[in-house]
Amino acid sequence: MEASEKRLAGPQAEDEQIASLTYSILTFGCQMNYSDSERVAAVLEKTGYRRAPDDRPADLVIFNTCSIRQKGEDRVYGLLENFQALKAVNPRLLVGLTGCMVRQTSTRNSPPEKKDPLLKNLRAIDFVFRINDSHILPSVLAEAEPRLEMAGEPEFAQPGTETDYLQIEPHYSSTFQAFVPVQIGCDKYCTYCIVPYSRGREKSRPLEEIVAECRRLVEKGCLEINLVGQTVNSYGLSQLDSQSRHFDWYHQPRAVEKTTRELPFIRLLRELDKLSALGLSRLRYSSSHPRDFGRELVALHAELPTLCPHLHLPLQAGDDAVLARMNRKYTYAQFREKIADFRRAVPGAAVTTDLIVGFCGETDEQFENTVRALEELRFDQVFLARYSQRPGTVAARSFPDDVPREVKAQRWHRLNDVLRRVSLEQNRQYAGRTLEVLVERHHPTSGEVEGRSRENKLVQFPGGAELIGTLQSVEITDALEWLLRGNIQGQDK
Ligand code: SF4
Repeated sequence: MEASEKRLAGPQAEDEQIASLTYSILTFGCQMNYSDSERVAAVLEKTGYRRAPDDRPADLVIFNTCSIRQKGEDRVYGLLENFQALKAVNPRLLVGLTGCMVRQTSTRNSPPEKKDPLLKNLRAIDFVFRINDSHILPSVLAEAEPRLEMAGEPEFAQPGTETDYLQIEPHYSSTFQAFVPVQIGCDKYCTYCIVPYSRGREKSRPLEEIVAECRRLVEKGCLEINLVGQTVNSYGLSQLDSQSRHFDWYHQPRAVEKTTRELPFIRLLRELDKLSALGLSRLRYSSSHPRDFGRELVALHAELPTLCPHLHLPLQAGDDAVLARMNRKYTYAQFREKIADFRRAVPGAAVTTDLIVGFCGETDEQFENTVRALEELRFDQVFLARYSQRPGTVAARSFPDDVPREVKAQRWHRLNDVLRRVSLEQNRQYAGRTLEVLVERHHPTSGEVEGRSRENKLVQFPGGAELIGTLQSVEITDALEWLLRGNIQGQDK
């Protein structure tokens, strides 16, 4: 059997005339999950699976899950119900889960004491794996389905640390844009958030490893790199990083000259900016934590040509008492000052944020402070969420989820109305300007393409599929709430 093929062994396989097996991955949640899915795809391809065509059911379906909100988990549960029925029709279908919902790598055939609770509760799934165990996925599959003949077994080293799976060369879904993870886990312990428990303690990848991955991408023509992590700007600062030799220059200040004691994230961005000589055009990062967003990073935005004029800094609430209950460890005034610093240093930059409505104990007055914050800080875009309790978090243990559902809904709509107005007012400032747009997709029905400006504004304009992956100068003619429209500079309208 060739390494590029994967078959089921045994009489059933012959009966079914199986040519080769296909996979699909359903990804939920943040950019980190999308990046992880690219690594899972690489492992599967290396072991002989092929991506299923869009119009065909796959033989292996992997859900890469998100636990941040109950809604995300409910979607997975809902979809899995359909898969139970699909398995009755296609007995060779294998279903697996990874991402934030998984605690222990195991399969339906693992001993009971080693089984993740998901395998006990969800009949449709055959195996689960922690994302950090992606490198051993072939052996997990072999345990889940002993009839699988593994081909082209990947030769990944047994990992020594939780970030080692990031050494897997991803199967990137784009040739001109890439998400590159710089850290895993989180040490901030916001009271509402499950991530520090599902993803574990914060740990950063070695700087050289990230630079090498980015260099390979740029050499192959990648124009835009988005560094991702739960709190990307605290790269290299956690307790685990302080014990790692990879960040000696920062954590052992007496061992090095004071002038070289540069924040790890600053050093990383400086190193990556040098890739502009090879063709890198844009550098982005998400998501940042306000506590670690300081003047050095603001100054770097004004200095590095590749660093895009866009900041995503999650506020979560505009009221100090709510922020304290969330354990965010900053006040609204401190946050406002950071935004003012950034806008002074990078005029014309866009600022986006995350807000949660209806957190435990949020009064009408406290909610009004969040509305005022949105008016005052003029965010270009906001990811609005209604608080949902996550079992295992401090908030679930310590605070009653006492804002009624209908009040959460009313507050969400109120904030969304304000956001629509503010976002439109922000977008109108771009009318008549020319923006550089990296074209991401083509809409054949409208004959238009769309992409993102350096400010991360979504821009649509007339054009064909041949523009995908190119940078275009676009004159903005119209501003809508979530979108700008225009024409390629110098082109007839
Ligand atoms: S910073 Fe807070 S909200 Fe963000 S991942 Fe960490 S604990 Fe969760």
